[in-house]
Parts: sequence; structure tokens; C-alpha cells
Amino acid sequence: AKENGKNSYQFFTDEMAFTSSRKIALENDLRRAITYDEFILHYQPQVQTSTGEIIGMEALIRWQKAAGDVISPGEFIPLAEETRLILPMGEWVLYTACRQAKEWHDAGFSQLKLAVNLSPLQFAQDDLLYTIEQALEQTGFPASSLELEITESVAVDDAEKAIFRMQALRQLGVQIAIDDFGTGYSSLSYLKRFPLNNLKIAQPFVQDMAANLDDKALVEAMIFIAHSLDMSVIAEGVETEEQLALLKELDCDEIQGYFYSKPLTAEKFTALLASGLSS
Ligand code: C2E
Ligand code: CA
Ligand code: CA
Repeated sequence: AKENGKNSYQFFTDEMAFTSSRKIALENDLRRAITYDEFILHYQPQVQTSTGEIIGMEALIRWQKAAGDVISPGEFIPLAEETRLILPMGEWVLYTACRQAKEWHDAGFSQLKLAVNLSPLQFAQDDLLYTIEQALEQTGFPASSLELEITESVAVDDAEKAIFRMQALRQLGVQIAIDDFGTGYSSLSYLKRFPLNNLKIAQPFVQDMAANLDDKALVEAMIFIAHSLDMSVIAEGVETEEQLALLKELDCDEIQGYFYSKPLTAEKFTALLASGLSS
């Protein structure tokens, strides 16, 4: 037993050493990626359920390594948060997305709304308002067309402060969406107290909705509550015609998901717009 204990201890430390050296390597890579411009944004259409019209897009970051492989944000955002590299990265996302969306506006698609993800660390920065204001001013993108996606986790430490900050953002004229709704420590009282424009129903609910009556009931309840609070609702991760039909029936305002389109490069998104599917 003693041997075993020792072995498992040994194994544990080796694995820890492995993990942390891997992490350091990844962190160095990440720093370099910022310097060498290895990030790109993809844009996923957000579609009005009733008309099928593209009314906006969510900017999603990708890391394109020199070798050509693309790394998804699920793999590097947590580390970027931990190392605070998310701050310069997030600022780059904001400027790049606003500049791109401004181009689409200028090309005649001036109704498009741009959704940008804000990490909890970004949200908590003292200069957040200034950063957003500057990005809007320097890119010429209208505040009213920008939607910031935040998660409930921004309010875990200090809900009052978070609400105050959201109010200040709303005063700037930007919209706020609550992302991944239903997965965190969602509290219905938050919904009432947060000055939100839009609620994004998290993918798992949407994906199980067709097969599971409980999930369908939850989606229906979320839509009902959001509408009662004057918020619009977007369902994420819509993959099938059946899910779309159900969401239509439940009066969900917008959908986003592979059924309509995967996230696209700016070039492909431009082509999609030009093909006439939007206003
Ligand atoms: P999210 O904000 O919930 O973004 C939606 C994710 O779902 C995206 O993954 C998108 O590609 C994926 N998705 C969209 N439609 C479907 C579908 O029909 N089926 C399935 N299975 N997936 C779908 P992605 O791009 O890998 O991003 C993962 C997460 O990384 C995002 O989740 C977001 O939390 C974070 N992220 C991405 N870009 C940024 C960014 O610029 N800043 C910050 N702070 N976080 C970001
Ligand atoms: Ca999001
Ligand atoms: Ca989401």
C-alpha cells in the first residue's frame, strides 16, 4: 500500500509538472500570438426567427498558428483570463470587430448589430467604459449597434457594482446581452435587476429541447420571462430544422447556430450578405 501511495504521489507530481510546463509553453505562445497578429475573428450570423433575415453577427476569436492550424477559443480563453492576456486580446477583438462591422454598415447593411463577448475580467476593469467609448469613437461604429455579451459570473463578487457598470454601459448607448443563460448560477432576480436588452438561451437547452419535454418547458419559460421583462431572446446552437420550428412556435425572436451558418471569415460573411439574405 505504501508503494502504491508513493507511486501515485509520484505520478501526480509528474503530471502537475507536465501540465504546468505545457501551460507555460502555451502562455508564451499566446503572448507571441498577440505580437505576431495570429488572431482572427469569425462572424456568426444572428437571424430573425420570423423572417430568416440576418440582423446581426457575433464576433468569435480564432487563433491561427503559423503552421496553419486553428485553435478554438475554448482552449485558450481560460488561460488568457488567468494570465490577464485577455485584456489586450479583448481590446483587439473590440476594435477589429467594430472596424469590420463599420465596413458592413457603410456597404449598405447599416441595420446589422454586432455582438462582442466581454470576459468577466474585462468587465471588471476600471477603464472599461473608456475603452468601449474609444473603440466606438475611433472606428466610427455606432454605440446603438454594439451589443456586449456578458455572463452571470460578472455579478458573483459584487452584484451592485456590476449592475451599476451595466447601467453606465447602457448610458453609452450600447446594448447588453446575457450569454449562456441557464447554465450558471442563474437567478431570476438578476434578470429583473440587470439592465439587459437580450437573453441568450444556452446551447444545451436548445439542443435537448426537441427530445426532452422538460427542456422545452424551460425554454418556453425563459422566453416568457424575458418577454415579460421587455427583453428579446436569442437561441444559440440551433442545429436542426426541428429546433427551429419549435423556437418559432415558442416565439423566440432570434436564432444563431449551425443550422443557419457556422461562424464565417469576414470575407465569407460579406459574400453571405451580398447574396441578399439580409436587409
Ligand atoms: P459563446 O460566446 O457561447 O459562443 C458560442 C459558441 O458556440 C462558439 O464557439 C460557436 O462557434 C459555437 N456554436 C455556434 N453555433 C453552434 C451550433 O449550432 N452548434 C454547436 N455545437 N456550437 C455552435 P467558439 O467560437 O468555439 O467559442 C467558444 C467560447 O469562447 C465562446 O462561447 C466564448 O465564451 C469564448 N469566446 C469566443 N470568442 C471570444 C472573444 O472574442 N472574447 C471572449 N472573451 N470570449 C470569446
Ligand atoms: Ca457569446
Ligand atoms: Ca453562448
